[in-house]
Amino acid sequence: MNKPNVIALDGPAASGKSSVGLKLANKLEYKFLDTGMMYRAVAWAALNQGLDFENEMEIGELAQRIDIDITSPSVEDGRMNDVFVDKVDVSWKIKDPEVNQIVSQISKYKKVRQAMTENQRKIGKNGNIVMAGRDIGTVVMPNADLKIFLEASPRERAIRRYNEELNRGKSVDLDQVIQNIEMRDKIDSSRKIAPLIPAEDALII
Ligand code: C5P
Repeated sequence: MNKPNVIALDGPAASGKSSVGLKLANKLEYKFLDTGMMYRAVAWAALNQGLDFENEMEIGELAQRIDIDITSPSVEDGRMNDVFVDKVDVSWKIKDPEVNQIVSQISKYKKVRQAMTENQRKIGKNGNIVMAGRDIGTVVMPNADLKIFLEASPRERAIRRYNEELNRGKSVDLDQVIQNIEMRDKIDSSRKIAPLIPAEDALII
């Protein structure tokens, strides 16, 4: 059987896309790109620059202006990648609760999505890649050879995220994690551009 050249891995927050995607990519000797990191990087930059995250124009321009670089991990501290925004290492900062709070709002904006989608297609165009996100199979890589949509109950997903946070020494409240996951899923599924929905030809797991 031929190996799929591009694998799109979509699904709601904390459904296991990164863990599954990374394992799959390692096994196939493919690149892995977690596109959520890009949207998180924009959200972090907005907070860092003290911008109003509800100002679509300002955040759209920010997304077009900043340089987001995702590379293999340089430190063995559990990170899956190094993420830089204009050369600043934000690999862990993009996981902060403040980012979780605003990332889905800024991900609705047209210019933000255009800038991220363009970058993602550039990275994906040479194939041999597993790409995880919300709209990979529907918008970013609609011709992907294999499309997987991962699902799990909100509670199960929240427990996983909660344990991840505890393991990295963060004190977290499970109810808050559940609330954030449900809020992000709601915004991500109901937005006009590139909503979170399985592609028609996706394998739902
Ligand atoms: O995957 P992760 O939970 O880190 O993604 C963070 C947020 O980025 C999502 O809740 C969603 O709002 C946005 N996102 C998106 N499209 C993608 C990947 C992530 O809108 N392809």
